[in-house]
Formats: sequence, C-alpha cells, structure tokens
Amino acid sequence: MTDLRRLLLVHAHPDDESSSTGATIARYCAEGAQVTLVTCTLGEEGDIVTEDLNHLVPGEHLGQHRLEELHAAATALGLTDYVRLGGDGRYHDSGMAHAEDGTATARDETTDTAFWNADLLEAALSLVTILRDRRPQVVISYDTFGMYGHPDHVMAHRVMTYACVLSGVHGFRPELGKPWCVSRTFWVTNGSEDMRTMLDAAKANGIESLWGGDVDVDGPLPPMITLSEDVDVRVPLGPYRASKVAALTAHRSQVNMEDPFWMLMTHIETLGESFRLATGTPMPHGTATDLFEGLELVT
Ligand SMILES: [Zn+2]
Repeated sequence: MTDLRRLLLVHAHPDDESSSTGATIARYCAEGAQVTLVTCTLGEEGDIVTEDLNHLVPGEHLGQHRLEELHAAATALGLTDYVRLGGDGRYHDSGMAHAEDGTATARDETTDTAFWNADLLEAALSLVTILRDRRPQVVISYDTFGMYGHPDHVMAHRVMTYACVLSGVHGFRPELGKPWCVSRTFWVTNGSEDMRTMLDAAKANGIESLWGGDVDVDGPLPPMITLSEDVDVRVPLGPYRASKVAALTAHRSQVNMEDPFWMLMTHIETLGESFRLATGTPMPHGTATDLFEGLELVT
C-alpha cells in the first residue's frame, strides 16, 4: 500500500535538520513517507569547531562546504528531497551575537542578503511554491524564539507560519500552484524529561559543563526546554539513533561528536525528538509517537 504521509521540515542552516530532527527524518524516510527538507541558508557564518577545517573562510566558501556536508547527512538519513529556500545562495546566514542571558540574538550589523533581513512575504511565497507542489500534511519548524534566539531560526519560524496560511488561500497567487492546506504545524523542542535524563547522565559520568553552563541536575532547565506534559509528539531515537549519529558526524565543520553534549545526546538510547503542536488538528490523546496520528490522509 502506498504511504500517503507527507512531511516537510523548514530548517535555518545545514546541520539543524540532523541535530533536532535527524531520527524523525530517518524514520519517516525508512517507513516510506514522502519527506522534504527546506533549508533557508547555507550556514555561511557558522562557527567552525574542527581545527583542520579552520581554513574555510566564512561566507560562500564555508557555505559550499556545508552544502557538501548536507549532502552527506541527507544520504545518512535516507533523505532524497531537500532544497534551499529560494534556491542556493538566495538567503545568507545572518550570524548571531550572544545576549546577556546566554541565548542568541541578532548582530548589530547584518548584510542585505542576510536571512534576518529577508522580506517576509517574498520568503514566504518561495515556501508557498514548495508547499503547493509537495502538499505535506505535516510541517515542522521552530517556535517564536527559534528555540534559542538565533535570528535565522526565528525567521524560519515566521516564514513557515506565514507560508502555511497563504498556501491554503483559494485564488491567492494561482501561478504558485493549487492551494494546499497543511493539516498540522509543529515546533521542534526538547522535552524536560529527556533533558533531566541528559543532566543525570552527565553527572554520573563526571561531566561538569553542558551547553556552556554548569551541570546542575536540580537547577532550572535552559529556556529551550518544554515541560514533558506540553510535548505533543515525541519520536524515540530507537532504531534511528545510528542514522542521526552518522548525519551529525557528516556535519564535521559544525558538530564535534566528542563534545559531551553531543555524546550524551546521541548515545542515550532512550532519548527522543520532541514536538509541540502549533496549528491544526489536535492530537487524539496524550503525547503521541507519530506526527500524523489521527489524520485522515488523502492522495
Ligand atoms: Zn541553525
């Protein structure tokens, strides 16, 4: 029987698809669903974490390298349909600055081509074209804060939200395709129980610092955490953990797999990838393990 499920993800940079949704992508690809990844920039301003790649110059040079990393990660996840918003190089990585509270924020100065400065309608229309062509029932991006404040993540949220509204409007820009209404949009997040599990494991392994802060198992959780009872769907890493590890490993310029955070994130088998339902059909009951649960699917 044909799998009618169609999933589309809107991510800001190469590596985001693997770090927050790698197991989810691998699972739906393996199960035979149609999966489309839209990456908004090539991550031209990303911090290089591997010394032997320090020669890569921020800008186009690094962007091209990260595109190659994205190809390798997609292969690891079994993903064949992945595109960049507006075409390669249309929108550039805006870079980020550090806010006083440790979250990310926009730099004081950004270039005209930075995604942060994109015209929201123009960027959304680029996505409408893809939505009307792929016709996903489920679309995933970030919350209003882009999980941790990175301006490109915030922009991805805005573009996804706006495009999903515009896509369904009859008679609106018919040259962009037949109207398509998305059934559910989700915001990717981290569930509090998974984070507690990571903190406990860090403590047990003598790791003193995670995400730039001290490990404090009894202290408050970082801002990008959602209480587990508010998580609508949690996809266990389960059999897709190895694919996620392989995809993250492909993003060598950005992800140091020996960093304690990534070690824990990818080696604790019971962890999962969590999502909050933002718009559309409510989940039938409690936290589901399938983004499509309860949806009536049409071809
Ligand atoms: Zn990112």
